[in-house]
This record gives sequence, structure tokens and C-alpha cells, in this order.
Amino acid sequence: METNTTSDIKVITSPTSKINSVDFDNLIFGKEFTDHMLICDFVNGEWQQPEILPYAPFQMDPSSRVFHYGQAIFEGMKAYKDESDAIWLFRPDQNYERFNKSAVRLAMPEVPEHIFMNGLKQLISIDKEWVKKGKGNALYIRPFMIGTGVGVIASPSQEFRFCIILSPVKSYYSGEVKVVIADHFSRAANGGIGAAKAAGNYAGQFYPTKLANEKGFQQVIWTDDATHTKLEEAGTMNVFFRINDTLVTAPTSERILDGVTRKSILALAEREGIKTEVRPITVDELVVAHQNGSLKEIFGAGTAAVVNPIVGFQYKENYFELPKLEKLLSLEIKEKLNDIQYKLAEDTFNWTVKI
Ligand SMILES: *Cc1c(COP(=O)(O)O)cnc(C)c1O
Repeated sequence: METNTTSDIKVITSPTSKINSVDFDNLIFGKEFTDHMLICDFVNGEWQQPEILPYAPFQMDPSSRVFHYGQAIFEGMKAYKDESDAIWLFRPDQNYERFNKSAVRLAMPEVPEHIFMNGLKQLISIDKEWVKKGKGNALYIRPFMIGTGVGVIASPSQEFRFCIILSPVKSYYSGEVKVVIADHFSRAANGGIGAAKAAGNYAGQFYPTKLANEKGFQQVIWTDDATHTKLEEAGTMNVFFRINDTLVTAPTSERILDGVTRKSILALAEREGIKTEVRPITVDELVVAHQNGSLKEIFGAGTAAVVNPIVGFQYKENYFELPKLEKLLSLEIKEKLNDIQYKLAEDTFNWTVKI
């Protein structure tokens, strides 16, 4: 075990590595973790010294606020290794900003940039062998924060723990995805926490998604809570519709998470001369577009899979199958975005950040 303090992060490296016990060709998303983690506590109104430690369970008081009142937020991002072994992040500033927006909404302290960014970079540098080369391979980065204050008192915690853990992943193929359009359940509501990456948003999704799974659908397309007529997100991803050759996606709102993949796809499409429209899109419009043949594709967009093509959707009693196209625009866009992420194409947007 080696202990040293570089800049302001205390580092205790693990005496052993698990890396040789991991089958990198058959990774299950989010199941394996690297040898180290970053922890930083917020106590007495101040962030303490961040620590990089061997990955391990930690003890918490059973009355910790997070267990009772759900003060928990997270981020999801990836690191990629290029052909010359350099490691790159994709738009980490966007995740950092969003993390602190989520923190504010959940009455949690914002994490200073040097703790989030330097912590992230140093942690990945220590576990760099876990980032494998080659398209599809990546290191999934999970920063999160929980309320650790003790006492079952329904008031915000005064103590928090910020952590970063890392998980090696392969490109994510979800198989054929059929979706149900929500006509009763909601993921988010005006004035709620849908725009924050709050753990509770996911907990609330599990039950309706389980009901959809039981009927043979993999995901739910969430609609606006007031009328259930506007198409807003696909599972835990933003959602795009290709009508003829135009990509349509809903504007972000209090109910829709401002996805980094979503905004990157919009920028990339614009650069490539693909028409985009950011506007509300309704279930009725979708059904009409399906009937007149102008609906070509539906896909989810998010960090884990980049894009997730959807093959059909159920609305009330009817199932609508999408055409089987030879060339999916969604997959072409995924390719282009991946090429930027893996440094195989010029990053004209300056999105990538070297570690
Ligand atoms: C994380 C997330 C997304 C996708 O965001 P990315 O930044 O593209 O990964 C979309 N919708 C919801 C609800 C999310 O939690």
C-alpha cells in the first residue's frame, strides 16, 4: 500500500489489482468496477480533502438521510482510449454543470470543479489499464452524491458524500427494442425533479417499466404528465423521431433531462446537413406519420448506448411496427459520434478532453 498526497487529493493505492480476473470480452454493463474510487465528504459546511482509495464497501449509519428521503444524484459519462493510448473524456464540462444543477434541485451542496474534474482525471489515470482500446470499449464513469447526515428527520441532510466509481464497459446492444407509450404513469411532472439526474426518478420508473416488460416491451416512452399526449423520453434516454429525413425531438423542460447525447446529436446533424426540429411532438402526429409512411425511425439517445433504435410502439390497444430500413440514420449518427469520441475523426466541436 502506497500513500501520498498529490495536489490536494490523498491517494491510497490498492496493493493488488482485480484486473486479471475480469473478462473484458464479456462485460455486463455496470457490473465490474476498477481498483479505486474517489470519496469526498461534506462536513460542517465544507468539502473535506478528496481521497482516492481502494474500491471497497463503506459503512453508513442506518438513519442516513439518503435511505429515508432519497437525497441522491448521479452522473453518467465515459472515457475512451485512442490508438496511441491517450484517454479522452467527452464533454465532461456538461456533466459537471448538470451534476451541480441536480445538486441544487435536491438541496445538496455543489461540488467544486477541482474536486470533480481533478478527482475524475486522477482516478482514471490511476486505473488507466482498465480503459481498453478499440471501438466499443470504454470506461463508464459514475459520479454520485448522497445525503449522509444521520437522523430520520424530514429535512435536508447537512452532511454529504461525493463519490466517483468506474466500470469498464463494452458497447451496449440492447437487442430489438419495442416500447409502450405511457398513457397513465409519468416519469416526471412540471415542478418536479425530472430534469435532475436524481436517483428517485429511476425508482419511480421501475414499476411501470416492469409492467411493460411483462407484456413483451423493453421500455416505456414517457409522455407529459398532464395530458399524456406529448412524447418526451424513451426509458432513461432522450427520444428522437425521424419523419421523412427530419429528426424531431422535444425541447428540454422541467420534465425532460437535458442529455449530452441529445444535444451532441442535434449539433452533429446540423453540421452534416440533416434537418432537425426541436418542438413538441404528439402521439397523434406519430400515429398519422406511421400511417402515411413518413415515420422512418424512433431512437433513444444517451451515454450508455449513444443511440438505441426502436422497432415498434404500442399505444393503447394498437401496435405499430416501424419499417425495416437498410440504412438507419440513427446508426450513422452513432458511428459519427463514436468516431469523435475515439479520436478517429476530427473533433470539429472541441468536445473531447484529454486526461
Ligand atoms: C441520463 C439521462 C439521459 C441521457 O443523458 P446523456 O447525457 O445523453 O447520457 C436522458 N434521459 C434521462 C432521464 C436520463 O437520466
